[in-house]
Amino acid sequence: MLYLDNAATTPVRRDVLEAMWPFLTAEFGNPSSHHTVGERAASALADARRTVAEWWGVRASEVVFTSGGTEADNLAVKGIVLARQPRGAHIVSTRIEHEAVLESLLFLERFHDAHVSYVDTDDTGLVTPEALAAVLRDDTVLVSIMLANNEIGTVQDVASLAQVAHGVGAAFHTDAVQAAGWLDLNVASLGVDALSVSGHKLGAPKGIGAAYVRARVGVEPVLHGGGQERGWRSGTENVAGAVGMAAAVRAAENERVSASARVSAVRDRFIAEVLRQVPGALLTGHPTRRLPTIASFCFPGTSGEAVLLELEQRGVVSSSGSACAAGSDEPSHVLTAIGIDPAIAQTAVRFSLASTTTDEEMADVATALAASVATVSGLGSA
Ligand code: PLP
Repeated sequence: MLYLDNAATTPVRRDVLEAMWPFLTAEFGNPSSHHTVGERAASALADARRTVAEWWGVRASEVVFTSGGTEADNLAVKGIVLARQPRGAHIVSTRIEHEAVLESLLFLERFHDAHVSYVDTDDTGLVTPEALAAVLRDDTVLVSIMLANNEIGTVQDVASLAQVAHGVGAAFHTDAVQAAGWLDLNVASLGVDALSVSGHKLGAPKGIGAAYVRARVGVEPVLHGGGQERGWRSGTENVAGAVGMAAAVRAAENERVSASARVSAVRDRFIAEVLRQVPGALLTGHPTRRLPTIASFCFPGTSGEAVLLELEQRGVVSSSGSACAAGSDEPSHVLTAIGIDPAIAQTAVRFSLASTTTDEEMADVATALAASVATVSGLGSA
């Protein structure tokens, strides 16, 4: 079986598991405990925090470990808005964000009288600085725009967008969950005030994530309790998870530049092959500004779910565009937001590659896909 759903989740790397193992067994301490067992856990947590801080080029005190990307997004979006203007805040975002951001925004509208303006993207999913400037207000508190989209892979020019947002004094958050391990997450280059990532997208386990929050921006906590993570995120820290995430970050960053170039080339040859072999195939997202890992298409005249089933019978596991909205039959909110007809959006299939994916594998996938699409559209047989 060839697994091409790495945007949904990745397997835990062996070196990550090995790094974590001691902190699940002998070194099991609670980092808040004032004895040597606790201190050893606290020291491992501090090391992991330093690794993440170096990855982003920020202070260790600005790194908050969370339970994953969803919590990191919730903390950044709700936390910054509630810290700055608990009632009636004006916020700007896009309609192609992950649900973790979109639902946090709806919560702020519903319970904190916030008002959200959504900046339109073009038909590739890109937000231009001009489009952002047009919806910003003098009193905009927060702009949240993802670095790379999980369904179509489009990569925003976050540095330019953040500069525009700062022009009106708004803080800028970016969801970097899909970008982690593939794009440069240096905060000074990106110019952002907050950023979120998730461990299980880059070879660490599910249940660990992290947020950057610029010290002078700050957040109101979403989880209240014992005051861990400088009071920004209460709850006994997931020490093994944080250690695993740090190991995954080191591994990914070591080979990021070469892996990104290699996988982008595999992806591009695959996209070209699909467009050549599959009649009517539409590439979704931006042709060049896209994550190395994501090749996403619509196949008008089919059903995305039926194509996925056919592909799985041929040994390929991938997902529809709406994979993250578990169990939903609705057309993807991302695809409809970039102007794709809802009926066409139902025909979406997303392939998300790993650093180990090869040209040979993807050549076979293109052939299997052509046969699957032909079967589903009734033009041929399996
Ligand atoms: N943001 C993006 C862009 C994602 O793709 C995902 C997961 O699919 C999340 C946030 C949520 O991350 P997690 O699964 O760690 O909660």
